[in-house]
Amino acid sequence: MTNTALMATYSPPDILFERGEGAYLFTQEGDKYLDFISGIAVTAFGHNHPHLVAALKDQADKYWHSSNMFRVESGEILAERLTRNTFADRVFFGNSGGEAVEAGLKMMRRYHFDRGDTKRTRIIGMEKSFHGRTIATVAAAGNPAHTKGFFEGDLGFDHVAFGDIDALRAAITDETAGVILEPVQGEGGILPAPKGYMNAVRKLCDETGILFMVDEIQCGMGRTGKLFAYEWSDITPDILASAKGLGGGFPIGACLATEKAAACMVVGTHGSTFGGNPLATRVGNAVLDLLLEDGFLGQVRQHSETLKSGLEDLVSLHPDKLTSVQGLGLMVGMKCLIPNVDFLTKLRDNKLLSGRAGTDILRLLPPLNLTDAHIDEALGILNKTLKNW
Ligand SMILES: *Cc1c(COP(=O)(O)O)cnc(C)c1O
Repeated sequence: MTNTALMATYSPPDILFERGEGAYLFTQEGDKYLDFISGIAVTAFGHNHPHLVAALKDQADKYWHSSNMFRVESGEILAERLTRNTFADRVFFGNSGGEAVEAGLKMMRRYHFDRGDTKRTRIIGMEKSFHGRTIATVAAAGNPAHTKGFFEGDLGFDHVAFGDIDALRAAITDETAGVILEPVQGEGGILPAPKGYMNAVRKLCDETGILFMVDEIQCGMGRTGKLFAYEWSDITPDILASAKGLGGGFPIGACLATEKAAACMVVGTHGSTFGGNPLATRVGNAVLDLLLEDGFLGQVRQHSETLKSGLEDLVSLHPDKLTSVQGLGLMVGMKCLIPNVDFLTKLRDNKLLSGRAGTDILRLLPPLNLTDAHIDEALGILNKTLKNW
């Protein structure tokens, strides 16, 4: 039975999962699905991971919520660990990716306001980007399919082609406050920034005194084989949005920033009732325990190589259906000649869960702690599905 009381914003297939275990989801009827989409890069350690479950249950027995009127120890610890392992000095917690981006967008404007540069309010985003579904985040991404009918004008956002440094240089004016981009574009098509682009953006931002914000909601938290994807370049951003994998399935978002960028976020400038709640931050800490284990990110990079070379083989075997493999780490896209939605549906019929991105990409976001056996199983289902096309 489909629930007609829900708004019609989604159109899920008629499948009901009952439980999950590691890389698998199970229905009531006992059907077993290999989950290579992870709730869109959220269940980064698969389903029902004992360490995450233990953290959540332990906190559930203590207390759930006090609001930010009071200190939250697990939130302070999580913020401290996030800053110790990144460029950042400060963290603001929200409950979702959109909120993490929103905090950063506000910060970019307020930063210049506090310096008396009140003209600098405009923010430059990238074409084909995705930053969430709030009014400001759809305006930042500028995708007409997401903005249509919701507001007039551009709400202070400009857009340039991702990867085109000359276009970005030309777009920066004395009204620009900052730049926001995904180091690996997710929804737009699993597209890593071209080589040298992150460095060039950093240099432009430094030269013009504007802030550089990265949206690592999908590509961060180990997804690309580094804790955050900006580490593949040799620069650091001023602001970073994280969410998705950060909670391993429990809703949490975080906006990380340097002291310089965050200095404007004083008492009264921003807030969230649930943000940094004990349940969410206990689980966030448990996720970090697993992610920061010695050698773990190396394993992600190794599994990425194995998966990608297997996918390259499939491209060679089925050149009439697939053209290439792209992405970084375990954030993988397969460029399709067949309709990606049909491919996804047939894979699901064959018990492999995947996603789509852009117009012609099949998106694979397996759990980060997957094994070679999971990779073999997924490649087998992909090959069978393509053979029987
Ligand atoms: C998912 C995503 C968001 C939005 O996150 P929500 O939790 O849905 O608000 C923002 N940016 C990127 C890159 C994402 O992948």
